[in-house]
Amino acid sequence: MDKIKIAIQKSGRLSDDSLKLIKECGIKFNNGMGKLKAVADNFPLEFLFLRDDDIPGYVEDGVAHLGIVGENVLVEKEKDVDNVKLLGFSKCRLSIGVDRNWDYKGVQELAGKSIATSYPKILKGFLDKNKVNAEIHEISGSVEIAPSIGLADAVCDIVSSGSTLLSNGLKETEVIMKSQAVLIANKSLNAEQQDILDKLIFRINAVQEGKKNKYILLNAPNESIDEIISLLPGMKSPTVLPLAMEGWSSLHSVVKEDEFWDVIEQLKKVGAQGILVAPIEKMII
Ligand code: ATP
Ligand code: MG
Repeated sequence: MDKIKIAIQKSGRLSDDSLKLIKECGIKFNNGMGKLKAVADNFPLEFLFLRDDDIPGYVEDGVAHLGIVGENVLVEKEKDVDNVKLLGFSKCRLSIGVDRNWDYKGVQELAGKSIATSYPKILKGFLDKNKVNAEIHEISGSVEIAPSIGLADAVCDIVSSGSTLLSNGLKETEVIMKSQAVLIANKSLNAEQQDILDKLIFRINAVQEGKKNKYILLNAPNESIDEIISLLPGMKSPTVLPLAMEGWSSLHSVVKEDEFWDVIEQLKKVGAQGILVAPIEKMII
């Protein structure tokens, strides 16, 4: 069988979670420190470890068939690739930061100012949309120190907690885009490559669904079962098994992670006892 190549960031804020996702998909491989390539043992996948900036271009050219990259880099690079799936990690935003003593009132204040960024295209799009004429100063790293060394009046940079801005005397004033990791694919995969991608997406979906849900087991008196079932819709309907103790049953079901605490409270109110909640590794719906 053909293998397909996936480009993953060599080392940085996408690397660990990208590799973790691959492992959670049951794909085994050995990535020795500093290696630029690896091959999966039990899935037709080869890994290329690259700088994230290069990933969209390599996927467009077909050097890699797939890639994992931040939406911020994907949008900035303007490469023609398929945006296959949002992956939910490396969440951050691309924002404007200005000196914290600047009494900033709105985007018009950026007119005539210089803004340092590694994202000139996204920034230009934002400024054009707001009809603001500012000077874009492209630099490739350490953007946040630009104002303090007199290189620019403001920055347009990646923010997650905001602590980097803060420690450089800056404050966040405009969020230009929100970003997370995304799986991208070359636009002209052949049938066999598409088939491998479909298998990978199937596994990623199962991992993501599993994370969104919890497996729940509880004991309840038989007279509460109907009420409990109405609180626990489950995948179809809950499993109900008789307990050795007369008049009691055990119920098994699945609840959404984000509804979980509310449901637990309600279950206790209607008589549920011995509630166990377990993580779900994979869930196929
Ligand atoms: P490379 O050497 O591969 O070019 P880099 O220095 O450009 O790496 P990183 O800082 O590792 O990039 O960030 C990679 C991506 O992770 C960013 O493009 C962004 O999508 C996301 N990211 C950046 N900072 C954060 C953060 N603090 N929290 C979450 N995600 C982030
Ligand atoms: Mg980079």
